[in-house]
Amino acid sequence: ESFFSSTPRIPKDAIFALTAQYKSDSSPIKVNLGQGTYQDDAGQPWILPAVAEARRRVQNRKLVHEYLPILGLPEFRHAACRMVIGQPAFDSVSSRIASSQALSGTGSLHLAASLIKTCSSLKPTIWIPEPTWSNHHLVFGSLGFKCRSFPYYDFERKSLDFDSYRTMLQSAEPKSIVVLHACAHNPTGCDPTKEQWREIGETMKQRQLFPLFDAAYLGFNSGNIDDDAYAIRLFVNELDMEAAVCVSFAKNMGLYGERVGCSFLVTRNADFAVNTESVLERLQRSVVSNPPAYGAKIAGTILNDDKLRNIWNDDMVTMCSRIKEMRQALYEQLLVNDAPGDWTHIIKQSGMFSFLGLPLEIVIKLRAPHLHGR
Ligand code: PMP
Repeated sequence: ESFFSSTPRIPKDAIFALTAQYKSDSSPIKVNLGQGTYQDDAGQPWILPAVAEARRRVQNRKLVHEYLPILGLPEFRHAACRMVIGQPAFDSVSSRIASSQALSGTGSLHLAASLIKTCSSLKPTIWIPEPTWSNHHLVFGSLGFKCRSFPYYDFERKSLDFDSYRTMLQSAEPKSIVVLHACAHNPTGCDPTKEQWREIGETMKQRQLFPLFDAAYLGFNSGNIDDDAYAIRLFVNELDMEAAVCVSFAKNMGLYGERVGCSFLVTRNADFAVNTESVLERLQRSVVSNPPAYGAKIAGTILNDDKLRNIWNDDMVTMCSRIKEMRQALYEQLLVNDAPGDWTHIIKQSGMFSFLGLPLEIVIKLRAPHLHGR
């Protein structure tokens, strides 16, 4: 008899299972089309020049391995909030912000959602676009939120389904939460226009819906943080809304495995922010105690140094431009090879992902003849 005889077996995470399959394939020309990690022309992970330089500086400063404070490295988390909100607005908003370093984007979402669940007057109902990043349902569901999906993408027209979006916003119960991909929607590569963002923000404000921004790809749409933070700044700075913002530096700094993120809440006044931050601190203490130091030191070094910030901006342009070239090349090859159908959505989409819109059977059929050594 075992204490674990009733423990279920959970199927492996689909994306990581695909990556394992990819790694075990012996083909010399294999390409991983599943996991969202940026690679260079040689199919290798890219260490951003800004990160390489920041690493050197961190090492030279005598790298020690002491604990960080519970809320993380202060110069990192404050700079991360400033980066998202932007100057000069940050000067007036900063006293109303509660922030904490968190375990990359996933940990940021988990921390913000834990706070909302335990210490807010919001309803435990969360609206999630469909399709979305596969982990959203797991993160929010595991915290006991009722996850509701709304159609985000029109699979026929291969574009945003704004009518369905609007219908959801107009019918959702007040005080529910809406997950907003801040930019570069995963997996469709399709974002609302500026006008649509305005309508989303104004409707949410009027209907008392709470925005929870998942900002995992800032810089990946345009190569520019200021442009990509448009929606967050519109809601917080212009429409003066309360919001949760969950920032990941996994993609835009290529710090995937270092787990560098920041979770922050913009509250109505400075007192609420102090209280909220005290709860973040308590929640963090119970789960990770102290967030990881190395990646935060690298990111903090970049964010707080003008020269490194400029190099980082160039790095983001490099990544964005290469992705655009890949889109264009794929599109042209589909035309050259007379692939049936309209493929313009591939070049219209932006961000890290290209959503081909192929049915599952076709994907499997295309892949099957090229599997090696398994
Ligand atoms: N949100 C979205 C939309 C994502 O695509 C990802 C990563 N694929 C994340 C959050 C979190 O990533 P990480 O925890 O690695 O920062």
